[in-house]
Amino acid sequence: MLSLLSPYNLIMGKEREALLVLDMLNDFVRVGAPLEVPDNRKIIPSIQREIKKARRKGNPVIYVCDNHRPDDKEFSKYNWPPHAVRGTEGQKVISELKPAEGDPIIKKTYYSAFYRTRLQVMLKELGVTGVGLTGCLTHVCVLFSAYEAALRDYGVTVVGDGDDASFAHTLHGLHYRGGKGVRSGNRA
Ligand SMILES: [Zn+2]
Repeated sequence: MLSLLSPYNLIMGKEREALLVLDMLNDFVRVGAPLEVPDNRKIIPSIQREIKKARRKGNPVIYVCDNHRPDDKEFSKYNWPPHAVRGTEGQKVISELKPAEGDPIIKKTYYSAFYRTRLQVMLKELGVTGVGLTGCLTHVCVLFSAYEAALRDYGVTVVGDGDDASFAHTLHGLHYRGGKGVRSGNRA
C-alpha cells in the first residue's frame, strides 16, 4: 500500500470534491467482455466504499462513461475492439455500482473525461474545487483525466491501490505538472 507521500500530500483546505467513477462498464468488467480487465472486478468493493464515503459527505458522484458510435474512430486508431457502443448493455455501468437517481453521467469518446464533454461546466455548476478519480484504468482514462483536472487547477486525488506502479507514476507526473494539489487516496 502506498503511504501518503509527503511531497504530494498537499491537502486542500475547504475543498468540495466530486468523485469521478470512470468506465466501470459491463464491456470493461464482465467475464468475456470485449475489453475485459479482470482486475476491475477486484476493485468493485473499494469503489462502493468510495461512493458511500462521498455520499456521506454530500459530495457529488459523477459517472464518466465511454460511449462510442459503432464506427468510432477510436477503435481503428488504437486498435481496440468495438466497446461501449451506445445503446448496448456493454455501455452500461455495472449493476454493482449502479448510479443513483440524479447522479450525473458524462459520456466521453476518448480517454479524458474533459475532452469534448461538459464535465468542466458541470463541476463549476456544482461548486466543485477538487476531484477524486477512481475506476478503469489508472494508466489510461484515470491518468488522462487526472492530468486534465490538474491543468484546470482542480485539486486531484487519485484513489488507487498503492502497489500499482502506474498509480505512483500518475501522482509523480501530476506533481510536476502544476496541479493545485495531489494526494493519494486510500481505500482502507
Ligand atoms: Zn473507448
